[in-house]
Amino acid sequence: MRKLDILILLGFVLSLSAVAQEKQYPKPAPMTPAMSEYWLPQPAVVTPGKASETAIPAPSDAIVLFDGKDLSQWENSKGNPAEWTVQNGVFTVKKGTGDIRTKQKFTDFQLHIEWRIPKGIEGESQARGNSGIFLQGIYEVQILDCYQSETYVNGQTGSIYKQTPPLVNAMRKPGEWNTYDIIYTAPTFKKDGSYRTPPRVTLLQNGILLQNNTTILGTTPYVGFPQVVEHGAGPISLQDHGDPSAPISFRNVWIREL
Ligand code: MG
Repeated sequence: MRKLDILILLGFVLSLSAVAQEKQYPKPAPMTPAMSEYWLPQPAVVTPGKASETAIPAPSDAIVLFDGKDLSQWENSKGNPAEWTVQNGVFTVKKGTGDIRTKQKFTDFQLHIEWRIPKGIEGESQARGNSGIFLQGIYEVQILDCYQSETYVNGQTGSIYKQTPPLVNAMRKPGEWNTYDIIYTAPTFKKDGSYRTPPRVTLLQNGILLQNNTTILGTTPYVGFPQVVEHGAGPISLQDHGDPSAPISFRNVWIREL
């Protein structure tokens, strides 16, 4: 083989390897939970007014989802009867039995729900009274004990989990009842499955505004970023989180379809 041929061949091989190298892209590092958590600024603490014993009873056009007697409006994630404990007009997470959800599915709604962190609760950050309300079964509004207990702000009480922190911290003490009033507008979708209009939520805790017509960006996973998933009407789901702290309770749950 002539020298010139060898040089041409060498050049050809080198250019091929350059093309091959151009197609090598660095892979993103695997996501860890901490990559979607941030701690500052911590929302200001606002002390709610004194709790009423009968906070906002259901109005005439509401669908009562829990009237203090039973969980007949609820089921577990397999469609079997909800196993959480009902006692003294209150229902309590039964740890290990899984999330529960309403049998009925909803689109746009106004939801009222009351919840109580048990007195004497122990644990810290996310392992302290963790539960949550999944709007349409998908988007988590966080429930947690953040009374004099800090965590990452986009995971604290009243956050859209791992997305948007609440405007303020409006917690009552463990042992006292908190109220959530949630106004939710369901998303609409384009043909390609992306949002035509994203979901939106307004949230008040104990009558104090935490989320003001906030745009929900997508799903609310523990690891990773929000994903847009096409869906229709969905249930109200409540989280059995699995943290080791004492289980939290709920009462007076009703919803108005909008
Ligand atoms: Mg939660």
